[in-house]
Amino acid sequence: MPHGRTQITGFLLFALAIFASSALFADLPTETDFLVEVNGVVEPYSPRAVFVLPGESVRVGVDAETESTSMEVGISGGSLKQVSERKWIWEAPEEIGSYQAVLRNAESGDMQVLNLFVMRPFKEIKKGILNGFRLGKYPKRAPAGYEPPRGFIEVTEENEDTHVSAHFQLKQFVCRQKSGYPKYVPLNESLVSKLERLLDKARENGFYWSGFRILSAFRSPYHNGSQRRARLSRHMYGDAADITVDENGDGRMDDLNKDGKVDVQDSVLLHDMVYALEREDLNGVRLGGVGVYAHTRHHGPFVHVDARGTKAVWVKGIRRRVASRFSSSMQ
Ligand SMILES: [Zn+2]
Repeated sequence: MPHGRTQITGFLLFALAIFASSALFADLPTETDFLVEVNGVVEPYSPRAVFVLPGESVRVGVDAETESTSMEVGISGGSLKQVSERKWIWEAPEEIGSYQAVLRNAESGDMQVLNLFVMRPFKEIKKGILNGFRLGKYPKRAPAGYEPPRGFIEVTEENEDTHVSAHFQLKQFVCRQKSGYPKYVPLNESLVSKLERLLDKARENGFYWSGFRILSAFRSPYHNGSQRRARLSRHMYGDAADITVDENGDGRMDDLNKDGKVDVQDSVLLHDMVYALEREDLNGVRLGGVGVYAHTRHHGPFVHVDARGTKAVWVKGIRRRVASRFSSSMQ
């Protein structure tokens, strides 16, 4: 057994036993009396995911509004140092893999989970291959914002169901290329955060969706090249996803605007929510692109969202009459 894992506390074993029995955290209360802060960023959803390189330090804490002074933390790997009543520094282990932290308010019993991924560093890619997985090559001379990912999450049959947020699982972001395990995927926290906030925005508008169907998130440079996609696709960088709403599970976009047909207007409805979200204070979430795609012979309508850090809006396959609606948001 790796050294780090022998340090599991009794509290963590207790916590992990509870989580193991609740299928994919579906039964976990989403409302808790405290929020977790990771490297200074508070998110309203649980569980949260943290992506780090081996040996990297992460600041974990409880948001300032929490009144409890009896917070406990259990962690399944690496070392944890308490720096104040409600702040800790977690030093990630050297071993690549998935770990878990549980924070608990001992007064109320409320708990939050952090799923921690120690990534395989970019520098381990040799001739476009990372530990047997064909990633291909990232463009050497690329503009700012297109630097290759720092590291790649190792996806195995054991961890692919792990939640990276309340409504999304790791396996939804994996590249669709044919390969065995382990697979590797870069994933940007801002993308996950944006998708969660988009679900909140939908709820505000009376749409109670259980999640999004992610048609395509990460596309390795190898896969991207074989599909003749844009040379510098955001999909190669782990911060883009092509999504639909598919509550009826038929594999394609639902009739969101209830006009009796599934078409580009359903993408437009989703786009409008992304656009509304972009105008709000996103609490550190990076602004990004949104693309509206009409259906073609090959696919139904969908929406591209990303967290590229600068605003970009585009439409694809839409007649000018419909596209003119976007002129204000494209400026
Ligand atoms: Zn896309």
